Amino acid sequence: MCKIKSNAYIPLSEPSFRGNEIKYVTECLETGWVSSAGQYVNQFEKNFAKYVQAKNAVACINGTAALHIALIIAGIKSDHEVIVPTLSFIAPINAVRYVGAEPVFMDCDSHLTMDVQKLTEFIENECDYLDGKLINRQSRAQIRAILPVHIFGVPVNIEPIMKLAKKYELVVIEDSAESLGSYYGTGNYSGQQTGTIGDIGCFSFNGNKIITSGGGGMIVTRHEDLAVKARYLIDQAKDDKGKSIHNEIGYNYRISNLHAALGCAQLERLEEYLRIKRDNVNWYRNHIDPIPGITLIDEPEYGVSNYWYNTILINEKEYGMSRDNLLERFSEKNIESRPIWHLCHLQKSYRDCQAHDIKKACEFANHAMNIPSSVSLCEEDRIRVIEVLKNG
Ligand SMILES: *Cc1c(COP(=O)(O)O)cnc(C)c1O
Repeated sequence: MCKIKSNAYIPLSEPSFRGNEIKYVTECLETGWVSSAGQYVNQFEKNFAKYVQAKNAVACINGTAALHIALIIAGIKSDHEVIVPTLSFIAPINAVRYVGAEPVFMDCDSHLTMDVQKLTEFIENECDYLDGKLINRQSRAQIRAILPVHIFGVPVNIEPIMKLAKKYELVVIEDSAESLGSYYGTGNYSGQQTGTIGDIGCFSFNGNKIITSGGGGMIVTRHEDLAVKARYLIDQAKDDKGKSIHNEIGYNYRISNLHAALGCAQLERLEEYLRIKRDNVNWYRNHIDPIPGITLIDEPEYGVSNYWYNTILINEKEYGMSRDNLLERFSEKNIESRPIWHLCHLQKSYRDCQAHDIKKACEFANHAMNIPSSVSLCEEDRIRVIEVLKNG
């Protein structure tokens, strides 16, 4: 919705409902299929799997639950370590702790995603490979998985990660919560969607994501056995429904038919939303490039971003104002903007964890910010954003 009033609030990312949302949700209400069973759950999984070209897709209650289940089915236990980015939303890091494992934090590169060069150096120079196990020399614990996050939709440089995983027998769990529709353009995985290359991929349909089901998540994997296990665990680990036998500790992580109905309708709009996001970023780029001291974060040469959230980096000297002052200017103009995350390795719960040579992520944490990126953004809204950037 375009903001007609010249000072109306512009959020960072708001959902857009332009298709069959009301129709599908109403159908759930009219038929009574509102809870954890119903045809929309199956349809959402099927349509989603088809879109991302995944062998198996299991819908669940949210992206964080998807990550939790992914770590369990990958066999990550409390004596394991998982390599994660420090520049990330906190959810994947917390999920590592849900299974009792320890995160090891990595730096990011200039596209915000995990720095694969530093990752390689860390694994080759600071770990030992003994009896098929990658041992972290500092902690003496086994590193069992790499969990890269496709930050703001930017695909991580997955090819070197997959090579390392193969060489050192590591599991790769992709956090694709922000990157539905992003894919690889060159190399071994050309044409493949983020989330479908590692062993398991996790997606989110939270209200701020590119499409939303109100709340929801999806676990995708090419491993049939892992998909079966995921489906079992999200539904209370029922071994015999009639006799209520549960041989493992299960979870109630199923998505509701209501949410899945919304997800189905949104998925129908995804291609359109991707086009709008690309138009938005192209417009922003044309108007931001001439402003000295501001850089719009671009997609890498090997991949195509869904440009879920637009990110700019402020060079304070060149621009003449700090990032934090600029954030205040946005707020004064009733436009939402925000610094990118407080780094995970600095969060209270993770301060004691190992963090490997974090530099670039600090620069982004101090000088980068997100600007409005909704599908509903109209030219008048974008002009207001650029006015703030130009005039400070
Ligand atoms: C949103 C998000 C999640 C969590 O998804 P929810 O559906 O909100 O639980 C996980 N990882 C990243 C990177 C996210 O942006």
